[in-house]
Amino acid sequence: MTAAGMDTTTDLTILYRGPLASCDYDCPYCPFAKRRDSPERLRADRAALDRFTAWARTAGTDHRLSVLFTPWGEGLVRSWYRRALVELSHEPHIDRVAIQTNLSCRTEWLTGADLDTLALWCTYHPGQTPYDRFLGKTHRLAELGVRFSVGIVGLPGHLEHARRLRADLPGHVYLWVNAAEGHTYTDEQAARWTELDPLFPYSRHPHRSAGLPCRTGASVVSVDGEGTVRRCHFVPAELGNLYDGSYRAALAPRPCPLAVCDCHIGYVHLETLPLYDVFAGGVLERVPRAVTSPVLLPSPRPRHGGGSRR
Ligand code: SF4
Ligand code: SF4
Repeated sequence: MTAAGMDTTTDLTILYRGPLASCDYDCPYCPFAKRRDSPERLRADRAALDRFTAWARTAGTDHRLSVLFTPWGEGLVRSWYRRALVELSHEPHIDRVAIQTNLSCRTEWLTGADLDTLALWCTYHPGQTPYDRFLGKTHRLAELGVRFSVGIVGLPGHLEHARRLRADLPGHVYLWVNAAEGHTYTDEQAARWTELDPLFPYSRHPHRSAGLPCRTGASVVSVDGEGTVRRCHFVPAELGNLYDGSYRAALAPRPCPLAVCDCHIGYVHLETLPLYDVFAGGVLERVPRAVTSPVLLPSPRPRHGGGSRR
């Protein structure tokens, strides 16, 4: 179908979420807190991830891929997620592989990965892990040269934790703040969070999205453990299956059918927002392009020692 030598691959971003729903943390704002997966469910999750990884490793004839793992629970305490990230990071047709994590796992496995490709979306959950342990891991990630962002849910009780974290994180690391689900912010409250995360205004309110162009369904899709392809995690209509190739014919621009989009992993793909520019090169792991710019960083403070639910 193409002239010899012409590159026929298309860019495709995949948000993958398998059956895993268990987490080692117990966050009061999360339905997956301290959930246990049965051995059967864990086996199914592992088999589903292995299948996805095998597909992604051989998808280079069709696509250049970027992959974000968005498990309901915590993936990196499971060996199969760590292995998938390392393996996919070495594939030349994969531009990015990232995962949302609470960073409770060890960090040394990352030395086996291609760190030009792997990235982490880390969330600090106050009360679930000692502060110094979490902070120490972020500094270790920085030493290893891992690309990552760190975030926190913008609950009133988290503000002091967030301030402390901003002061202590490696200076180049972006701290994002997710507006807490079901929470509204006065201008004064929002200003406090915006001091810490200049991009908080994007998270403060759900984005009206009905009828607006969104890249999902065309260059971005969501895939579940069975390979069912949907445009995003929030619109249930199915576009086909990854493994029988039926998704390919369905990839096309289409407007958002929902009234609002209130999760970063969704609205970042809205074409009416400038977020592909803001996060250029770091859309999946939520690392803004201008992270070193004074506009994005609060004034430096001395070190001292040491969304949605994500
Ligand atoms: S918010 Fe994240 S870390 Fe906390 S319990 Fe839920 S899945 Fe685990
Ligand atoms: S705007 Fe959000 S809900 Fe609508 S299609 Fe895009 S990602 Fe999905």
